[in-house]
Amino acid sequence: MSNFDHLSIHIPKSHYPRVVIVGGGFGGLKLSRMLVKEKFQVVLMDRNNYHVFQPLLYQVATAGLEADAIAGPMRKLIKEYDNFFFRMLRVLKVDVESKKVSTKVGDISYDYLILANGAKTNFFGNDQIMKNAFPLKQLSHALDLRSHLLQNFEKAVLSNERAYVESLLNVVVVGGGPTGVEVAGALAELKGHVLPKDYPELNFRQMNIYLIEGTDRLLNGMSQNSGDKAHYYLDGLMVNVITGKFVQSYENNVVKLNDDTEIHTQTLIWAAGVMGSIIDGIPKELVEKSRILVNEFNQVNGFENFYAIGDVACMKSEKFPKGHPMVAPVAIQQAEHLVKNLKLQMQGKEMLGFDYTNKGSMATIGRNRAVVDLPGDIKFTGLFAWAVWMFVHLMSIVGFKNKFIIFINWLWNYFTYDRGNRLIVRFFNPTLKDYEENQSDLYTDNDE
Ligand SMILES: Cc1cc2nc3c(=O)[nH]c(=O)nc-3n(C[C@H](O)[C@H](O)[C@H](O)COP(=O)(O)OP(=O)(O)OC[C@H]3O[C@@H](n4cnc5c(N)ncnc54)[C@H](O)[C@@H]3O)c2cc1C
Repeated sequence: MSNFDHLSIHIPKSHYPRVVIVGGGFGGLKLSRMLVKEKFQVVLMDRNNYHVFQPLLYQVATAGLEADAIAGPMRKLIKEYDNFFFRMLRVLKVDVESKKVSTKVGDISYDYLILANGAKTNFFGNDQIMKNAFPLKQLSHALDLRSHLLQNFEKAVLSNERAYVESLLNVVVVGGGPTGVEVAGALAELKGHVLPKDYPELNFRQMNIYLIEGTDRLLNGMSQNSGDKAHYYLDGLMVNVITGKFVQSYENNVVKLNDDTEIHTQTLIWAAGVMGSIIDGIPKELVEKSRILVNEFNQVNGFENFYAIGDVACMKSEKFPKGHPMVAPVAIQQAEHLVKNLKLQMQGKEMLGFDYTNKGSMATIGRNRAVVDLPGDIKFTGLFAWAVWMFVHLMSIVGFKNKFIIFINWLWNYFTYDRGNRLIVRFFNPTLKDYEENQSDLYTDNDE
């Protein structure tokens, strides 16, 4: 008898059609919150019991915010609806023929299936880097990284061996997109304002922060102006920005670039890209570059009642021949649009094609420094851009309490130059990086 034999998903029968939503991220949460108000039975399944605001993961990793401030419990975010059921389970398999999804504790059938299970870190097939580097995609990753960095400083205090201390202090960030730029900027601020006070015994001139980007400039998805400005800001923060170079290997605490440059570090942060997270059972011909091909209604090609939205979906159009960018507004807008279409479909009416409204993009590189690109070729940088960045992120976070806590934290950090969440509570040991396997496999992923 397996450990799970006494468990099952337990969803009562309903006279409403059952919509199973996989993933309570930006797309899945929005969809669930809207669909529960309609005549559907909504079953939301997520491997975590919380929704996480990924754009601020880097602040958790660099001690700027506490983990709970950027997440919200799923059961609290959607409550008091008799037609809503949340199950904290990892979906393992989709069976499109018999219309059911499988988990470790059993199957559940659906009338409508909507995959909103997002993306995972793309290590581009390099197992060695996957094993040794730190991804930044989930809340647990951010907490692992924070603990690892702080443990390294504690270890550095205990050693007199210069090369060893340098490898503990050095940090290499890979990927010059918004995440890489933001994490490098935040680390530089830690180094400048916080760490020298916490560790007066250490010489932080020995700490080098590198940002490695394979193409010839930073922030490739944004304007040249914003990329150049981000580079300029990072130079000012003494981050070593290296463009046009790739990380080839990382073992024995040595990062090797494709020009044979070697950097000694015990911390490699991998922010070089994500790929759609494909659940078993989805026919191969429906997947392209790790994303599920959908039509303009988010219907998975060839299916009436099977949809995918957000990062995992690839909707090709004239404007977006390779599919939409993997960003939160796409997932949210597709969720909103799909609710309208499901209602039309129920009424036997024609569905409407999705049209993405791009509201712009932005990145911050520490206090008073940010870059913003808005539609209509409007670009601005500096203090005003930073204020806009903070306002937009604050407004996008779920829950008033989280908004309030983050606002107070940012205010405090601004005036005191502090980043107060520096407790080592996980005792993260890189050799146990597969610790997730030790947790119940009802929920967790062996991949990233
Ligand atoms: C560090 C970082 C910073 C970012 N910054 C920005 C930014 O500034 N602006 C922006 O617009 N976008 C940003 N993004 C991208 C943005 O977060 C994604 O585009 C967005 O989250 C996609 O939404 P989604 O609903 O498709 O997936 P997600 O929000 O990723 O949600 C997927 C959900 O599915 C669950 N799940 C996955 N697999 C399973 C399974 N098998 N079974 C059950 N549950 C499962 C996950 O637990 C998760 O809750 C950032 C991403 C990262 C990682």
